[in-house]
Amino acid sequence: MRLVLVGPPGAGKGTQAQFLAAHYSIPHISTGDIFRANLKASTPLGLQAKGYMDSGQLVPDEVTNEMVKDRLTHDDTANGFLLDGFPRNTVQAEVLRAYLAENGKPLEAVLELAIDNDIIIKRLSSRRTCKECGAPAAPDASQCVACGGELYQREDDKEEVIAKRLSVYEEQTAPIVDFYRTEGLLITISADGDVAEITKRAIAALSRVQG
Ligand code: AMP
Repeated sequence: MRLVLVGPPGAGKGTQAQFLAAHYSIPHISTGDIFRANLKASTPLGLQAKGYMDSGQLVPDEVTNEMVKDRLTHDDTANGFLLDGFPRNTVQAEVLRAYLAENGKPLEAVLELAIDNDIIIKRLSSRRTCKECGAPAAPDASQCVACGGELYQREDDKEEVIAKRLSVYEEQTAPIVDFYRTEGLLITISADGDVAEITKRAIAALSRVQG
């Protein structure tokens, strides 16, 4: 399954991506996680991305596109992949389409997690993230359920940055929803409700595109 997950920040993409990647036995490729891992390791890529990330803006396309193309050459993508947080604008969507077409591996589906802004703001401002593995955690969790790691609040989950991220989503990322609708790849589900319930909804919706 070659899949893209799209939705505003706080729609639960990271959480659903973990379950869906395990379900389909495909790697979960989160551009945000790759940037954060580089930031933690103080690599040149991490240092380049830091200012954009801390202020809720997109890292420049040239940097992000090359990083994703490189990741898609890894052997673990032979049977598919789940992209989470990429593409984030129509330029990235076009680059991805061209790259996958060149390699004879076009996308099979784009799953949109739809959710209201007021729920997003509540979720993001109380969200905690694992310092070790990057998994999102519930506000009342004392440690990461995936690895036992310590939790922290992402710099970009602070209230002043959330508004910026939402406006970046509306202006730059929302247009890719139409792009993929036109391509006939878009499947939209509601991302409101229980985590397990949303996963079930996603798998049921995706089962209709699996050939
Ligand atoms: P995320 O974890 O997906 O919310 O991403 C966190 C931050 O990483 C974003 O606010 C951007 O600064 C950067 N980022 C992640 N994915 C992309 C992308 N596809 N294009 C540009 N910047 C990105």
